[in-house]
Amino acid sequence: MTTTTSPRVAFQTETCPRCCGTGEMPYSVKAGMCFRCSRKGVVLTKKGEQASSLWHEAMRARRTVAVDDVKVGDRVTIDPRTRCCTVKAISVRPNALGSGDGKGGMVYSDGISLDCGAVSYMVAKGGNVYRAIEHEDVLAVIEIVGADHPGMVLSER
Ligand SMILES: [Zn+2]
Repeated sequence: MTTTTSPRVAFQTETCPRCCGTGEMPYSVKAGMCFRCSRKGVVLTKKGEQASSLWHEAMRARRTVAVDDVKVGDRVTIDPRTRCCTVKAISVRPNALGSGDGKGGMVYSDGISLDCGAVSYMVAKGGNVYRAIEHEDVLAVIEIVGADHPGMVLSER
């Protein structure tokens, strides 16, 4: 892995209008926590939301890889919001019960099992998984969103 630095990507936020940035709502049922910002005191602006959804959509497309192309040693996940893990073994499992898109309960006639040690993913043949984010992906997606998008905040790492 290279050690080239990527810019740090964040999205424009503003003080939470519900709790005025305190993160607390004295009369809220959930132990005084502000529901709007989950105690963070800030929320995304409209432009920040726009940039964030553009970002995640482009990153998702960029990371999508056919399960048939996955090799031992690749770092993958079936849920783009979760950490990737390293594939240790790949096996074909006919009529396997799939973990698939996280909903579960599906039977794949041609299931492919990606064994990552602590976890293993069962994916239908022809299905997709997500590979780990690389430096190049970050740069490419900054290009797609537009480095001067008002909702995206770039800083040096
Ligand atoms: Zn709040």
